[in-house]
Parts: sequence; C-alpha cells; structure tokens
Amino acid sequence: MFKTVKNRSYYPNDFNVLDIDLLKKELNSLQQFEFTSFDEYEKWIYKVDELMAICEEEYARCYAESTCDTENKDIQEKFHFISNEIFPMIAPLSNEIDKKFINSKYLSKLNKNEFQIKIRDNKNSIELFRKENVVIDTELMNLNQEYQKTMGSIMIKFEGKEYTPQQLDKFLLDNNRELRENVFYAQRKRFKKEHNKISEIFIKMFNLRNKAAKNAGYDNYRDFRLKELGIFDYTAEDCYGLHKSIKEFVLPLKKDMSEERKKKLDLDKLRPWDMQVDIDQKPPLKPYKTTKDLVDGVANIFYDLKPLFGDNLKYLNENNFFDLDSRKGKAPGGYMMPLKETGAAFIFMNGANKHDDVITMLHEGGHALHFLQSKKLKLKQNQMGPSEISEVASMSMELLGIEGLKYFYKGDDLNRAKKNNLERMLDPFPPIAKCDSFQHFIYTNSDLSIDDICDHWEQLNDEWSTGIDWGGIEDKTRFGWQHVGHFFFSPFYMLDYAIAGLGALQVYKNYLENKNEGINQYFNGLHYGGSKPLPELFNQFGIKFDFSPKSVEPLIKSLYKEYSKY
Ligand SMILES: [Zn+2]
Repeated sequence: MFKTVKNRSYYPNDFNVLDIDLLKKELNSLQQFEFTSFDEYEKWIYKVDELMAICEEEYARCYAESTCDTENKDIQEKFHFISNEIFPMIAPLSNEIDKKFINSKYLSKLNKNEFQIKIRDNKNSIELFRKENVVIDTELMNLNQEYQKTMGSIMIKFEGKEYTPQQLDKFLLDNNRELRENVFYAQRKRFKKEHNKISEIFIKMFNLRNKAAKNAGYDNYRDFRLKELGIFDYTAEDCYGLHKSIKEFVLPLKKDMSEERKKKLDLDKLRPWDMQVDIDQKPPLKPYKTTKDLVDGVANIFYDLKPLFGDNLKYLNENNFFDLDSRKGKAPGGYMMPLKETGAAFIFMNGANKHDDVITMLHEGGHALHFLQSKKLKLKQNQMGPSEISEVASMSMELLGIEGLKYFYKGDDLNRAKKNNLERMLDPFPPIAKCDSFQHFIYTNSDLSIDDICDHWEQLNDEWSTGIDWGGIEDKTRFGWQHVGHFFFSPFYMLDYAIAGLGALQVYKNYLENKNEGINQYFNGLHYGGSKPLPELFNQFGIKFDFSPKSVEPLIKSLYKEYSKY
C-alpha cells in the first residue's frame, strides 16, 4: 500500500485526524474562530480546506485498503470507525463551518474565479443539510460495505478450480461455445445464492434514501439526489432527452452490430454468452504476460502522447500507487482515488490478461493525469471536479491511446484491439441510458418492492434489447441490476458517463484533426479540475457542453464511421 506524504501548511505532521477528540476540538475551534481581517478569513478558508484534504486522504487510504483486502478484520474495523464515528461527528460541524464561510462579511471580497464553485456548493449543502440525515448516510455507507463484501467474497468452482468472477469472465471470450455457456451458467448459479441477500441490502438502501429526501423536504429521492450531486448545469428533463437521443441514434447501430455478429458466428440465436467472443472466431487478445508489461505498455502510450503523461504514470508506479492484479478477497471493479494530501493518485483494478485491462488502465490513468494536473489549484476543493468532467479526462484516454496499442499488439491483433476500443466507447451508451432511466423510475416511485424493481428492470431490458435471446434462462435478466455497483455506492452516478463520453468523442475529433493542437487542448483542460461550471470546464478542453440531439447525432455517426474502418 502507498505511503501518505504529508504536505501540510497549517497542521503539524503528527496531527492525527483519526484521533477523534483532537479532530473535534480542532473543528470546534475553526467554527468559533473570529476573523478580524480579510487576510485572516482567507487564511482560515485554506486551513479548513487543508484539514478536509487530510481527512479525505485518510478515508481514501482506508477505502483502498478495504477494497484490496475485503477479509482483513483490522481494516474493516478502521473503516467502520471512520464511517460510524468520524464522519457523523464531522458532518454537523462542517455544516456550521460552511455557514460561517458563507455568512462572513468578507465573502464578497474573495476572488470570484477561485471561489465561485465553493460558494455555490456550500450554499447548496447548507440548504440540504439535515441533522437526521447524518445517521442515514452512515447506515448507507455500512450497507454499501456489506454489498462490496458480499460481491468480493464470491468464488466460483469451475472444472475443478476456483475463480473470482472476473477471472472466469475471460472464458466468455473463448471460441468454444459450450465452454462459454457452461461458464455463464456457473456464474449465474453462484450469484443466485446471493440474490436474496443483495435484494435485502438494496431495499434497505432504497428506503433510507427516500427517507433522507423526505427529511430534506423533497417529494422524491431523484430530485434530492440531483441537487445533492451539485448538478446545476442540466435538469432531469435534459436526462430524459439524452435517453431519447441514445435510443434514436445508438440503439439501431447496436442492433445492426448484433445482427452482424449472429451472421458471422453462424448462429440461429444470439445468446448472452455469445456477446464477448471475437466475431471472427479468433482467439482472445492476450495483451500482456505480467502486470509489469501492462504498466510499461500503457506508460509508452502515455509518453508518446506527451512525455509528462508518461512521467506521471511512472512516478505512480514506482511509488506503489497501483494495485492491479485480481485475487481472492479483493473487491470487484476498478477506480482511481485522488490522494489530496500526498498529491498522488491510487489506481485499483482486477487485471486478468484481457484487452479490457488495457482499456481500464488507460481510463484510470486518464483520471490520474487529470488529478495530477489539477492539484496545482490552490484550493484543494477545486481539484478533480465532478464526474461529468473527470470522465472526459479518463474516457478521452481510451481513444487517444488507440494508436499506442501497437505496444501490446501487432498486425491483425492490433486492428482488432483498435476496433475494440472504439466499440467500447459506443457500447456503454444504451446501458447507461437504461440504468439512468431505471434510477429515474425507481426513485420517483417510492413505494416499490423488490419485485416491482425487478419487473421494471426486465421491462427496460426489453425496451433496450439489442437482439439477445434470453429464452429458457431461469430469471432471465431479472437480477441484472444487482451487478451494477453504482446503484449501491453512488446513485445517479451514471448518465454523467454518457455526457462525458460525448465530451471524449469531441476531444478525439480534435486530436484526429490536429494531433499537437488536440493534445494541447486536452492538457489545458486537465488543469481546471472542478473549479468552474461544466460548460466552462468543457470549453477549456476545447469542446462543447451540449447534448442536444443535433450535437449527439454527428458525434455518434463519426464514431461509427471510424469503427467501421476496421
Ligand atoms: Zn472513470
């Protein structure tokens, strides 16, 4: 695990935020501090900002440790202590500190450029804060932990060996159809054992979220959550509009692609286990032998785009900021965690020698680049920014990295890999719209049972079908939502991927038109973190924040054209 580097201006290195009494005393003294000048006020803001960054990193470290080892009791206890003791203690005091910041007579003297987002967000959180929701947040965090633990502990016996679900996934790329089918059923059989448990966890979360929204005076959790996420630059109506555009412009392409797959694989019916195998029946791409090869290859790609990008990745690798292998007891998925105190980024994933791993590494690497450039912003709260923009940074790298796939493949494999990166950009749009639409529905209809939730999920699967035949499979797609981690740990963190995807397509278009200028614009955008409203942040990347049908259609068309070249 990585080491925290203490870069502190206001607190001594031995100031330990896990000492709850010490932290409480400090927060109280910040809350009671009386400024006698603008200078004191400004200094106070940066001091609070530093303390929050120290707390965030302590949490990030603990989260990272707990996902790397879901079975380690000490780490789970520490995580529990932070979620159940530290956070609930901080929340009300932090709300008081926000109020002190907003209500100061010096507020109007602050540099608008630097503080506009902090002012907007603090006003928003003061408005939403309810003391009784602090307990609910803690419960939600604990339930999410339980979900992660349940999913992380799943091992599947297959042909005499034990696999994590991620390790088993690679057989779905195999040309042996019977093997794929067996793997599919082995996974389903194992997951089925957890359906009830996960349903129980989810319904508790669902009810708690609805209650939190009511406490804050909202009719439904959807409206509360969009506000809590600080979404100011688009509305629920805009979300529905984007669902519609995706259905109109992307879904028919996906149906065509399924039809072509069926034809090429010479099948009567396209079954769920036929979707990942190579369409020309070629063996799965094997991009690397060791994790070191994976890191070196991606570092080469980064170096070619901009030497600094390569240096950034190399620095993180050499200082233990990566945990990339899949192993038992490790939580599923991949993420990048910004470490605001150390000024570095932690990357987590479950590598299993698949092409997906290369894409994940490009993606998480893009997040890391974003954080590392935006850490130059003095106010740490401005670093990184919301997902609509941070995903532009990461998804763009999946496209900008296409040329550099030559470091992993040659000849025909290289073309397959390139095509795969483009397909992976197109693929998520329909499921994202489906998942977002699912959340809009369930969180605007509060009295739902698990059966209602499953029913609606199945209905959406029909609506968004690309032609896969689920006939004869018990429960069909009914419990598929249980695999979408975002529904558990971060509701409504979903459509932002589509919004960002459209941003990434524009970044790629700029790059294809003029490589130097394209990279310069991308690099420029990385520096602004979340310090401005979304339309302005997009502009810094040289792209437009616009997801109306007239801008979605040409972007999707040009992606499909690029895809059809291979
Ligand atoms: Zn991401």
